[in-house]
Amino acid sequence: MSEGRDTIAAISTAPGEGGIAIVRVSGPRAGEILAAAFRPAREGAKMRSHMLRYGLAVDGNGAAIDEVMAVFMQAPNTYTREDVAEIHCHGGGVCAAAVLRRALELGARSAEPGEFTRRAYESGRIDLSRAEAVMQLVGAQGEAARRAALRQMRGGVSAFVGDVIAQLTDILSRIQAAVDFPEEVDEEAVSVEIRGEIDEIAGQIERRIDPRRARILREGASVVLAGRPNVGKSSLMNALLNCERAIVTDIPGTTRDVLSERFELDGRVVRLSDTAGIRESEDSIERIGVQRAQSEVEGADVVLLVLDRSQPLTEADKELLSLADERYILCLNKADLPCRLEAGLPNAIPAFSLSARTGEGMEALTASLQERLGATAYEDECFTVERQARLAREAADTLRGCAQALQDGFSPDVISPELLNVCNLLDNVTGRDASEEVISAIFANFCVGK
Ligand code: GDP
Repeated sequence: MSEGRDTIAAISTAPGEGGIAIVRVSGPRAGEILAAAFRPAREGAKMRSHMLRYGLAVDGNGAAIDEVMAVFMQAPNTYTREDVAEIHCHGGGVCAAAVLRRALELGARSAEPGEFTRRAYESGRIDLSRAEAVMQLVGAQGEAARRAALRQMRGGVSAFVGDVIAQLTDILSRIQAAVDFPEEVDEEAVSVEIRGEIDEIAGQIERRIDPRRARILREGASVVLAGRPNVGKSSLMNALLNCERAIVTDIPGTTRDVLSERFELDGRVVRLSDTAGIRESEDSIERIGVQRAQSEVEGADVVLLVLDRSQPLTEADKELLSLADERYILCLNKADLPCRLEAGLPNAIPAFSLSARTGEGMEALTASLQERLGATAYEDECFTVERQARLAREAADTLRGCAQALQDGFSPDVISPELLNVCNLLDNVTGRDASEEVISAIFANFCVGK
């Protein structure tokens, strides 16, 4: 397997201070390099595969570099499917750097970014989408992203893609049968049937490429607090964050800029921004704040529009309400005071009576936020990696085009090349060699049917 390959080495742990730092070596010379760079504490102890040993990392003169734990893992039951050695040094980078230098001296090459995982892919241990999921897992922001990446690494998207390819292959074989046995197959009926199936498949793919969900999962959601000055935005932000970060004051218009904080809600990373009161402003500094606030609102996933329920709606409130769309949640703040809010709130937008001061109603608000940002049924199988989403989008669009062609009266065999193309696109998601497999599957299918 590793014939002709060189041996690579790198520090596999994050830079900076830490308890341990791990130097990883992969390739045909991993065992030899470990034997030269590591001396087990128990003289003459034999290195057994996958067994961690205690000892010293030593330099070319046999002098100790660090006290370490080391493991040799024999191919093929390793991450890369090559021989792998790991030396667990003391953290902080200096020891690991010295051990890495030693490994390089002994003939290893510095690994490129992602090269261990690339070897895992090239050796066929994982497919492309899983390799990408590994990268995503390493960079995951928040619990939900970690869960999604892990699921995908274990095959979430691969399984779905495999399913779709199997369905398309089946459709292709039925089209082929209609071409080959025109007197036995009712082409019109086949056309109607597969059109429905193709639309259904396109829908399944589309539900998994919701770019907003994918972005929320990857980068976290953006939640923006809007409302005119003094309605209690900073207080609500504090209540949500449960700490005293924003400056609370009684003078309107003092939250001039956009202030944002990150927190985790049910495992999801949320960036919560408090905006300057959005309203017409004469003051130039405040106006800049207002502009920034408006652009924050435009890019937000959820807008919490705060109103002061202890006062009648003002013109500014009404103007803000007129901008509300499906991303909005109304926060009717100061519920601890007598209500002077008359009717006139839009029905379509969910509203919560709450008090940032006493905490009343906050639970219902966070529950609603959670639901907004929460999981979809397909979250674990979403095309969260941009490259995959692009391919999936193209696949879905092509399928919709095929369904349209059938609708327009084209005969089913006209769309066969397009369906094959979709299989190829999807195969590129997982990186398997597509058309070969698809073609032989069609052939096999055809033989069985015959
Ligand atoms: P912002 O300008 O919208 O950010 O409003 P602030 O958070 O600075 O609050 C303005 C004033 O309203 C402050 O005096 C707060 O103490 C007060 N306030 C905020 N929330 C509540 C609430 O739920 N109840 C009451 N009674 N006062 C509140």
